Amino acid sequence: MYRTIGVLGGGQLGRMMALAGYPLGVQCLFYDPSSEACAGHVAPLLAYPYEDTHALSQLAARCEVITYEFENVPVESARWLAERVPVRPTPEALHAFQDRLMEKQTLQAHGVPVPTFAPIDPQNPRTALEVVGLPAVIKTRRFGYDGKGQAVVKTESEFVEAVARFGAHLLIAEAFVPFEREVSIIAVRGLDGTFAFYPLVENHHREGILYRSIAPAPNITPALQQQAERHARALMEALDYVGVMTIEWFECNGQLLANEVAPRVHNSGHWTIEGAHTSQFENHLRAILGLPLGSTAPKGYMVMQNILGDLPDPAKVLSHPRAKLHLYGKAPKPKRKLGHITWCFDTPEERERFLSEALH
Ligand code: AMP
Repeated sequence: MYRTIGVLGGGQLGRMMALAGYPLGVQCLFYDPSSEACAGHVAPLLAYPYEDTHALSQLAARCEVITYEFENVPVESARWLAERVPVRPTPEALHAFQDRLMEKQTLQAHGVPVPTFAPIDPQNPRTALEVVGLPAVIKTRRFGYDGKGQAVVKTESEFVEAVARFGAHLLIAEAFVPFEREVSIIAVRGLDGTFAFYPLVENHHREGILYRSIAPAPNITPALQQQAERHARALMEALDYVGVMTIEWFECNGQLLANEVAPRVHNSGHWTIEGAHTSQFENHLRAILGLPLGSTAPKGYMVMQNILGDLPDPAKVLSHPRAKLHLYGKAPKPKRKLGHITWCFDTPEERERFLSEALH
């Protein structure tokens, strides 16, 4: 007999959540518009449009709590479900982070530092430019991810051209941040309000897509870790948030500026499966089920690398004794996240040697 939780979205994050649930006697029931969703390979899947209230009612009837592994679920569907069964985190938290403007405003309202930003008024786009200055980053407010729907502009004419190119989309302008590196924190808040934080992770992107995470990030001062935790705590408390939340940051002169919030488990937390005492997936399940949170302490020095576009030769990957291979059962497609590899080392020096010799 399993306890059943409903999960909106059925991608690889859900798949890893389901795998984390089984040892706890928890089964995920996925809901995704695509019958091919890869979480459906490991747990039951309801394949219906998000707006189908008849199918949503089946989900609500079968689950004790509902969560998400994907943030672009229509908030109306999450609200509809929340009237019938607990939805954690709340639909309001989901809503706050679906739109980049609302996201920045929410962060700012709770004292979390963000890059200077302004909404772009299509009638008068230059006003936003006056606020943020040049160079700037133009982003679509919704449905942008993995670097999609954004452009860096260095001149006023590039700005005007980019705004025209995005056409009808609602846009936001941000000051370009000359950051030293990108880091993220995975935070989790239990149903009883207790917190747990994973150590900051250093993230490397290629063409806007997360490519590699180094966890824990090297050269993190206790002050920087505390800064990230303090802001995550303030935000989660204000939203009465339950579950895992991820905040991506720019590190700039010893300060953190928030770039993005994911109201869910995150790609930069995949290392926690082998590399932490409790994975982000298990801690998310524990949180939404009202169970005590598990230790977030790392077990070593990890490197996580995404498998993008092409499948590797598994024998070659596994010829490294510290490699753990995860394939999501997805068909290869350019830039698609097909899996990831985590290497766990006992010392920072071993990890450093691996990064400079085996990987480049
Ligand atoms: P995003 O989709 O917002 O996570 O942006 C994708 C990537 O674009 C980030 O990981 C950064 O490398 C870069 N980026 C986004 N916003 C800014 C910014 N305001 N200043 C500098 N780089 C940025």
